[in-house]
Amino acid sequence: MKRRTLLASGGTALAGSMIAGGAAIRSIRRSPGRSVARAENALDRDRIVETLMEGTDRETAAYEVDGSEEGPTAVIIGGVHGNEINGYRVAADVTGWEIDAGRLIVIPFANVVAVERNTRGGPDGDLNRLFPGGREPESDLARAIWRVVEGADPDLVIDLHRSRGLFNTHHRWVGQAIFPTEGAERSTTRRPSSTT
Ligand SMILES: [Zn+2]
Repeated sequence: MKRRTLLASGGTALAGSMIAGGAAIRSIRRSPGRSVARAENALDRDRIVETLMEGTDRETAAYEVDGSEEGPTAVIIGGVHGNEINGYRVAADVTGWEIDAGRLIVIPFANVVAVERNTRGGPDGDLNRLFPGGREPESDLARAIWRVVEGADPDLVIDLHRSRGLFNTHHRWVGQAIFPTEGAERSTTRRPSSTT
């Protein structure tokens, strides 16, 4: 049987209600820029499985993309830094992917307020700094995101960012880059670097 465990915090009832009431996921407010609009157009809202921070200005959605065959689970996150357009545009696009195997859990606009403002951080500061190793995440939004990650029980977590600083450091060699961390323990799943 294909592994298709719904997010632990919600279960089937929650997922069903979220799909039925999908309009609860608000669009990005305040005259979004072209990048945000394009990202929103790419979203497959039929695949929403959970609403995070519902009813708040931080409300955002998690999407699930399923393959027909058994396979690994990956969590893909965009928009942790709201001015790093590439991350949320790619993540939004992924919600519309068709995959052969495994499962993707996608949070395209992790930090909606920051995306709206086109700023690195939101009202709680830099979201990427709110996941301290070995301790609880340090904001309601960070905890909500972490619950999705834990509920998905992923084999891989991909947090999409942008960094022009990389080109300054290694302009001939570094373009698209992956910075892996060991995920065996929670404390090592996310150790942000200063450039992302
Ligand atoms: Zn970043």
